[in-house]
Amino acid sequence: MPRKHNPYENYKAVLDKAAELLGLAQNDYIILKYPERTLKVSLPIRMDNGDVRVFEGYRVQHSSSRGPCKGGIRYHQDVDEDEVKALAAWMTMKCAVVNIPYGGAKGGIQVNPRELSKGELERLTRRFVSMILPLIGPERDIPAPDVNTTPEIMGWIMDTYSMQKGYAVPGVVTGKPIEVGGSLGRSEATGRGVTICARLLMQKLGRTLEGARVAVQGMGNVGSVAAALMHGEGAKIVAISDVSGGIYSEKGLPIDELRPHFAARRTLAELPDGDFVRISNEELLTCDVDILVPAALENTISKSNAPSVRAKYIVEGANGPITPAADDILDARGVTVVPDILANAGGVVVSYFEWVQNLQSFRWEEDYVNDMLERTMARAFEEVWALAQEKNASLRMGAYMSALKRVVGAKKLRGIFP
Ligand code: NAD
Repeated sequence: MPRKHNPYENYKAVLDKAAELLGLAQNDYIILKYPERTLKVSLPIRMDNGDVRVFEGYRVQHSSSRGPCKGGIRYHQDVDEDEVKALAAWMTMKCAVVNIPYGGAKGGIQVNPRELSKGELERLTRRFVSMILPLIGPERDIPAPDVNTTPEIMGWIMDTYSMQKGYAVPGVVTGKPIEVGGSLGRSEATGRGVTICARLLMQKLGRTLEGARVAVQGMGNVGSVAAALMHGEGAKIVAISDVSGGIYSEKGLPIDELRPHFAARRTLAELPDGDFVRISNEELLTCDVDILVPAALENTISKSNAPSVRAKYIVEGANGPITPAADDILDARGVTVVPDILANAGGVVVSYFEWVQNLQSFRWEEDYVNDMLERTMARAFEEVWALAQEKNASLRMGAYMSALKRVVGAKKLRGIFP
């Protein structure tokens, strides 16, 4: 069934708008409307009960103009080609905004991993890696985690690729467990980047995170870390949610007490009653806060609920959580949005640091990783802010303009082959 909001069409609409602001001609950037390569694979898996099931998977390489392709792998029942294409294109833009030497890619399997046993999940992962093997490699295309994929799964990816090569190749994937070449600081990096962006935005407005009221949608890798770090910087996290629903407390949720529950169960569903009220995801998105962090999936804020959003600032932890129509509504209402390609870039920045460490067979200290992340995000934030001011445009336009300058500039220098 086609999606109500096609994320790839969303990407192209934003791209056109930013290109127009920059005064680019179609010839300069038309190439960015098409992914370089799309590989669709069928994945037959022997289930534990002896049946064979066939799953659909994708690897899309959007651009390699600025370096090897880079992007995560998503396991979700709604994965389709347009979603993976959009996620790949956003990776191209994201790597360019933070100025790391990568292009963009993404992968996905249409599966609800919660319905699979661990053995089935491992067989599915290894089969997928075998099927996309011709495309990936430390110099070509480097996968990483995304929704429902974990460091353990990254370890299986590294092992499957290495078995085919006959020697250990840690640089083929990032987000790995530390023991097999993962980087210190990687698992918190995306949430840390979100927190850095929220802090920098507050600074620009003459405020701090201290006492800011925050709601976070999605308590996964990104949202749970962002909630904990923002809480650590003095913000009051009044609402959080996951796919099962949310909780709200006017005086702020005890994030430190709640975190072990998510870490162990990965859901809010079985959380015992406490000093909070239960709310729906829709209520979370419209609650009265300073900062809203959508950190679940695409298109959660659309034109139907954008008029009811009461947050003054939105920091996009997720990729594509706001549709273009909703973006216009929020912009007109004076809501400042730090866009996904900047706000959630912390993950790919530390993935880049992990890859550099792997290529050099060297280990960085965690403080060094976090410090480099902080500097990289701060530089990118400043550039985006300055471009947005210069063109009197939103931060999303600022980020896309910053990215487009780099990607189009690289393409121009390389030329079109042959
Ligand atoms: P995750 O699988 O760890 O967590 C996803 C969370 O979203 C879970 O808590 C889940 O319950 C919740 N969720 C799912 N559907 C929901 C719904 N309909 N309503 C409310 N909550 C829902 O995934 P993640 O890695 O934290 O990724 C979240 C988002 O951040 C995605 O858009 C992803 O592409 C993006 N992102 C992730 C990374 C990373 O390093 N993991 C980096 C950049 C961007």
